[in-house]
This record gives sequence, structure tokens and C-alpha cells, in this order.
Amino acid sequence: MSLNLSDPIEKLSYIGPKNLPRLKKLGIKTIKNLLWHFPVRHDDYSKIIPVASVKANEPAMIQGEVVNVQNARIWKRRLHITTAIIKDDTDTIRAVWFNQPFIANQLKEGALVNIAGKISLDKKGVYFSSPTYEKYRTGNYTMTHTGGLIPKYPETDGITSKYLRFLIKQALGKLNRLQDPIPDAILEKYSFPKINTALRQAHFPSDQESMRQAKDRLAFEELLFFQLRALRTRRSITRLKALKINFDKIVVKSFVESLPFELTTDQKIAAFEILKDLERTFPMNRLLNGDVGSGKTIVALIAAYQAAKTGYQVAFMAPTEILAQQHFQTVKNIVKDSEIRTELLIGSSKNKKEATKKIAGGFVDIIIGTHALIQKNVRFKNLGLVIIDEQHRFGVEQRAALLKSQKSETQNIENSQQVIPHLLSMTATPIPRTLALTIYGDLDISLIKEKPKGRQKIITKVISPVEKGGAYKFIDEEIEKGRQVFLICPRIELADPTESANTKSKQSKMNILWQEVKAVKAEYEKISKEIFPRRRVAMLHGKLKPAEKEKIMKDFKDKKCDILVSTSVIEVGVDIPNATIMAIENAERFGLAQLHQFRGRVGRGEHQSHCLLFCGTKENLENKRLKTLVNCDDGFELAESDLRQRGPGQFLGNQQSGIPDLAMASLTNLDLIKKARLEAKLLLKKDPSLKSFPLLRNQLLAFHKFRHFE
Ligand code: ADP
Ligand code: MG
Repeated sequence: MSLNLSDPIEKLSYIGPKNLPRLKKLGIKTIKNLLWHFPVRHDDYSKIIPVASVKANEPAMIQGEVVNVQNARIWKRRLHITTAIIKDDTDTIRAVWFNQPFIANQLKEGALVNIAGKISLDKKGVYFSSPTYEKYRTGNYTMTHTGGLIPKYPETDGITSKYLRFLIKQALGKLNRLQDPIPDAILEKYSFPKINTALRQAHFPSDQESMRQAKDRLAFEELLFFQLRALRTRRSITRLKALKINFDKIVVKSFVESLPFELTTDQKIAAFEILKDLERTFPMNRLLNGDVGSGKTIVALIAAYQAAKTGYQVAFMAPTEILAQQHFQTVKNIVKDSEIRTELLIGSSKNKKEATKKIAGGFVDIIIGTHALIQKNVRFKNLGLVIIDEQHRFGVEQRAALLKSQKSETQNIENSQQVIPHLLSMTATPIPRTLALTIYGDLDISLIKEKPKGRQKIITKVISPVEKGGAYKFIDEEIEKGRQVFLICPRIELADPTESANTKSKQSKMNILWQEVKAVKAEYEKISKEIFPRRRVAMLHGKLKPAEKEKIMKDFKDKKCDILVSTSVIEVGVDIPNATIMAIENAERFGLAQLHQFRGRVGRGEHQSHCLLFCGTKENLENKRLKTLVNCDDGFELAESDLRQRGPGQFLGNQQSGIPDLAMASLTNLDLIKKARLEAKLLLKKDPSLKSFPLLRNQLLAFHKFRHFE
């Protein structure tokens, strides 16, 4: 029998009614899914060592004869224990398995076996705990589970590595020869193995070097798709129509001169890049990326001002009402001496009807709002520019909805000449370079790295458990002086760290949310009753309705409470100048980039601000990681080191799942990313439609589709 990648896994042997649904739950439905389910690591069991020389806590593989096997039950703990004694020329050793009584039938006395796994130690001496075993066969047979570099797979729900190895080996054996989607010339240029070899070597490598090449080859393919897609998206945008907004240097100059401060160089450059984009006849698709407090809003407003001056409308969307209101005040203030008309449209606006009328009639120029801006009844007269603040807070569809919200009568959706507004998104999440090149490859990015002059430095301290009392006292003194405090609750730790990168478990995400609520409530009780009984304490968490969250933030801003106990949901852009302390419980559980984001929420006013990193463990290692934060307040630098330390999976968290495993693993590999980018450019230059690379083209289409259903 021969197999193709698109065949269902049912075509393999030993896929029973029990395992089929489990495999499907892992996302494995076809042979392709199975073969692209890559190992998380390989255990090196290439050398057989004598039993006498195994060492506790180290992995080992031995070969010997089974001299005794016994099953025992511990009723109270509902445990089934299988113990085998294995003997070689040098010594004997125990191997122990739990709840797999069938092993006793497989490992009969007298059988020759390989046993591989980590060596444990108890009072009876060293032993193998739940090792992998495989009956030893002579002749021309390669061991699947114990000889060589043995793949370990991400496992769940009863699908073991052993079973996956068995299935994958079977599939590789029966697979028809694959045609390589990557042109030969590229493979040769980088000495990449062909797809067939690469797949085999990625699962069952003959040595470390072949494994690395295979992984690079497969990751390169995924990265190439990212690059091809990004470049093609960019190209397709150039074919769309946008309203041309001329960069009037005199207008912009006098506007900038009217500001109460001087722009930083980075702000000037970013504004220039944006204004240059607006002059083109196809829509801008630019991301303004700058640390918290770097002054992104004013840069966006320069563009808004120019657009409004030219006679076009500007929509400015923020994720929450407080932020929208804050921006509205800023804008109103800044344009008060000009003829530009502003409007606020949020869910709780009382004049909604009137506002939508003004928007449709073209009687307002800059419209600031929330999701209310993308309601069906909102139509713009001549929307030239869309600005989205904290863009990661919006879904892809919401962003798209705003771009399409200009459905005037004369324009037909089918008509390719429909005018699309320019789009400027903003985010305070620093994007490391490798990510900018891959997952954000379709965007142009303007960076603001520099902070405005005279910004006060936030004092950051790591607080060990013994110093906590003193820190609470300090907080109390600050409150006494009239200041306010954020207190962030610990992040809920997952039992299985791979879980967080796993889209499949909506259930577990809900669980985390609930656990977080429980944790924040407990913390709130402790803080409000035991530690600061005299202070006014409020609580914020992800299970509250948006309106409730808004109210709490607004009350805090209005100084109606002293301490805000919160999960990590706390709002990003809100300006609360009177809050001077950001305290984070179990800070070691957060990534550096996120801690830096928290810290950015204080230090906005005249008073000296502090960031207190409560460290739950006494371990120096964690302390050391946190100390990076003490000395560094550059969000980009922190993001880069966070990405390096924790890896892309942890760094990106849940939002970006849907990225194939190997591409994910390679999101720090700048060298490989650059190669993929270069080759994508060359391919498209030679053949923009990729007609002469049908296989690549088809897979790229599938890749597009896959992303759309994200
Ligand atoms: P973010 O990039 O986090 O959105 P904002 O745009 O809210 O930052 O700016 C933070 C604060 O800095 C605002 O009060 C703003 O008026 C001020 N600001 C912006 N640019 C400058 C500058 N060049 N010099 C001084 N203050 C500035
Ligand atoms: Mg902002």
C-alpha cells in the first residue's frame, strides 16, 4: 500500500476507534498532519552503556535480559505497579512502570530488551522510572524507540510518544515519494535536504547534524510562506485606491510649532514616514510601534491634522471608552485654534444619533471612538485615514470593518476601484526584529525608541519575601501622601507549560480566567482586610463586563480609591498621573516585556514613581532575570531578551497560535528568516504569480486560507 499526504490517518494500521478521536483532538487528521507533528526534542540513546555504570538523574540506555517481572497493586492509591529486573554482564537494575500492567505480558522472563530513560534513585538504589523499552532484535532492523536519537512528541490524552513513533515510522515507510515544493536551485544553494529526507531526519535523525539541517529545511519552507504571503499582500495593497493626502509642509510645520513641547527625533521621523505614505494613491498599512509613553498619539494626530486640513475625515479608534475620552480631550485641546471639528462616539454617548448624522453628512473631521465606530449605522462621508490605537486589542475583523465602513451609494463593493482609507495602527508592545520580519512582514513599521526629554526615571526594585513588610510600609506612606497604587496579582501558572501555546484548549483558557478571578479575589481580601484595612481598595479582573471595568478605571482615575488590585488585564494607555506605585506579586512568573508594560503605567505625573517586583522565590536565578528590569528601561531591548530567554512560544502566548511549530521555533533565527525573505523576493521577482512553481503556489494558497480561519 502506498500513501499520500492528503490521505486520512485511518489508512494506517493500528488506528482504532479509541485513538482516532484522540489523534483528531491533537489536530492529526491526515498523513500530512501526522508527519508535520514534530518532536519537541530528541533523547540521545545512541550508546548502550553497562548497567554497572548508570548514574542517578542522567538518561541512559542499557541492553540486557529480563530476569523477573512482577505486577503489584496498591488498592488505596489505585496504582498498578510493574517491576522488571534486567540483567547484563555487569549488574542488574530495576525498571518500574505505573498503571500499564500489560507491560508484564510483553516483557517475559528471558526476553532480550533495550531499556532507555532517566535514572532515578530511591532507598533501594538506582532504577529506571517509566522508561521506554523495546525488545531487542538482531539482523538488519533499526530500533524505533531505543536506538539512536529518539523523538519525544507533545503528548496529550493517552497519545504517547511511543504510539506516535510507531505511527510515524509506519507512515514514512508507506509514503509515496513527495515532490518538493521548494525549487531545487534554492535547496542546493543552502545545502538543504529534499523534503523526503528532511521529514525522515526530522523524526528519526541519523545524527545531530542531519537533524539540524532537516529542521532548518522544514522551518525555511514555513518561513518562506510567511515571506511570500507578506510580499504578495504588500503588492496587492498597491493595487488598491486611496485618497491622496498631500504633505503640506507649511501646515504641518505650524501645527508642530503650536505644540507645547518639541518632538523627539524619532517622533519626527515617524511622522515624516506616515505623511509620505499618505501622499500615495494606494492605502498606507503602517504600524507605529513605540514604548509606553513614547508619544505615539501626537504623531498620529499630525497625520490626522493633515488629513482633516485636506478635507478628509479621520476615524481614531481606541479599545476602551476611557482611552477614547482621553484621546478626545487631547485632540480637542490641540486643534482648538483651528477650524477642525471633532466628535466623540462611544457606546455611552448620549448624542449618538446626532453624531452619526454629522459623520455621514461630513460635518465633523476627526472622529474619536470605540467599537461604536464600526456599528452598522455609522457611515463616513469621506474617510481618508483610520487610526487604531492599541491595535492588538482588536480582532482582524474589527480592523477590517473600520476600513470598509465607508459604504457610500456610489461605490460598489464589487468594484475594485473602491477607495480604501489609509491605515495607521499603533502598539506599545515592542516587536523584536525577527518577529517584525515574519509575522508582521506585510506591514510597514515606524519605530519610536526615544523617550521625550525630561521623563522621570521610574525606580525599580526587586523585593524578596523578607523585605515585603517594609515595602508595604512604604506603599502606605505614599498613600498617606495622596498617591495611588496598582497591585498586579500573580499570573496563574499552568501545570503543562506547552498548554499556553495550544489553541485547542479553549476550556483551559476559561479555566485560567476563573482561577485568575479566584486569585485576585483572595488577594483583594488580604490587601483590603489584613494589610491595608484603612485604605480604599478596588478590584479589577477579566471576568468583569467592559462597562464595569471602565467604571473601576474611571473611579481610580478620579481618586476614589487608593489601591487597585488587578490581574494583568489592566488597561494599557490610560493616563493616571497620580498613580506612582506599580507593585507586582510573583513578578518572576511574568515575562520581562510584560513587566515593562506594567511599569509603563506609572511615572506619568510629577511625582517620583516606583515599580516593586515582589519575588515569590528566594532563588537567585529569578532575581537575576528580574534585575535586568532594574537596569534597563528600553522596551525593545527587554523584548529581545525576553524572546531569547523564554522562546517564541512563551513570548507570544496565546494570541499568535496558528503559527506552524517549526516556524514558531525559528522565530528567533534571524539568519534563516533573512534567507527566506531573500528567496521570496527573488522568486516573486522572477515570477510574480508563481505560475512556474505550481506546487509552491498551491501550498501558498492553502497557507493563506489557513491564516484566514485563525
Ligand atoms: P503612548 O506612546 O504611550 O501612547 P502618549 O502619546 O500617550 O504615549 O504620550 C505620553 C505623554 O507624553 C503625553 O502626555 C504626551 O502629551 C507627552 N508627550 C508626547 N510627546 C512628547 C514630547 N516630544 N515631549 C514631551 N512630552 C511629550
Ligand atoms: Mg497610547
